[in-house]
Amino acid sequence: MMRLPPFRYLRPKSVAEAVRMLAGEGPTAMAVAGGTDLYPNMKRRHQMPKTVIALRGLQELKGVDGTRIAAGEILTDLERNARLRAEQPALWTAVRSISTPVLRNMGTIGGNVCLDTRCTYYNQNHEWRRAIDFCMKCDGTTCWVAPSSKTCLAINSSDTAPVLCAIGARLRFQSVDGERVLEAKDLYRSDGIDYLRKRPHELLTGLLLPKPDGWRAAYLKLRRRGAFDFPVLGVAVCLEFEGRTVTSARIYLNAVSMSPLEVVEAQKAVTGQELNERSIAAAGDAAFVAAKPMDNADFHLHWRKEMARVYVKRALDGLRPR
Ligand SMILES: Cc1cc2nc3c(=O)[nH]c(=O)nc-3n(C[C@H](O)[C@H](O)[C@H](O)COP(=O)(O)OP(=O)(O)OC[C@H]3O[C@@H](n4cnc5c(N)ncnc54)[C@H](O)[C@@H]3O)c2cc1C
Ligand code: SF4
Repeated sequence: MMRLPPFRYLRPKSVAEAVRMLAGEGPTAMAVAGGTDLYPNMKRRHQMPKTVIALRGLQELKGVDGTRIAAGEILTDLERNARLRAEQPALWTAVRSISTPVLRNMGTIGGNVCLDTRCTYYNQNHEWRRAIDFCMKCDGTTCWVAPSSKTCLAINSSDTAPVLCAIGARLRFQSVDGERVLEAKDLYRSDGIDYLRKRPHELLTGLLLPKPDGWRAAYLKLRRRGAFDFPVLGVAVCLEFEGRTVTSARIYLNAVSMSPLEVVEAQKAVTGQELNERSIAAAGDAAFVAAKPMDNADFHLHWRKEMARVYVKRALDGLRPR
């Protein structure tokens, strides 16, 4: 059985106290919300904070108010939110596809946005990793996926991240220095180790979604088991139309690179066009070219690459004005 390592557990009574604690403890402290990612990582000795600052009891991090979602909202509550389902169907679909009902009862949207990157050579217990002499992301020096790579290629596996990027959501961060608002697309770095532009002493406090005023979005997820499993490909598409013509397109792939990947050529293929077989096929081809999955997740990488084409085409087809 894997056990948690020893750590100090702090329970702030407010966001202000939490950010003071984070700043005071320094980079050896981490926030925990639902703990469904951090605690397994601590058990496998990937992430070893000396101090854990618990956000679960903070009422300030709870609530949904139209287009504002507090970071501590539990995934199950979002899944049951009828307004979110009606107004933000792509985000709702992504939330609903995260892990399992039991884990969604604990996990939060904030934890999902800040999820650690994943890799077959990393998400293993300590003994397994020791047997391969560890790897560059944790305790070692070599990347076993691409030994000549200077960058860790662990993948962003959050279901909500690509949707938030595609719909143009913004994220609110709080620290002892004050508040900072980032575009979701600017949070993620193309580096499996240093994967977030969040500063260590910042807390994510909320998500600001765009108003549902005509744009349409979709999320599709590829995984082995439909009721469980991280994505090995996520496709998020957000389109605006004038009549039947696409006036703006944002298309993101996830789980095929270290951060959500904007597929500019696929966006160009449909912008200014009607969604028809030709423009949709061109966007699918562009997604195929852009997707560069590595051999560090479930399924064969060539098949995942091919599925990027299929899923982008499916997502666009589903958004066609009927
Ligand atoms: C078996 C299993 C299957 C899973 N399947 C999926 C899946 O299909 N898709 C998916 O996306 N995820 C999946 N997950 C991962 C996880 O359950 C979810 O991503 C969940 O939303 C994480 O939220 P949490 O509140 O539990 O995060 P935590 O574990 O509490 O935190 C995760 C990370 O975010 C940081 N963090 C949390 N809240 C904040 C905040 N407010 N401000 C700053 N940093 C913060 C923590 O420090 C930590 O680094 C799975 C996990 C397991 C164990
Ligand atoms: S991509 Fe390479 S360095 Fe990163 S976790 Fe996997 S094996 Fe380790």
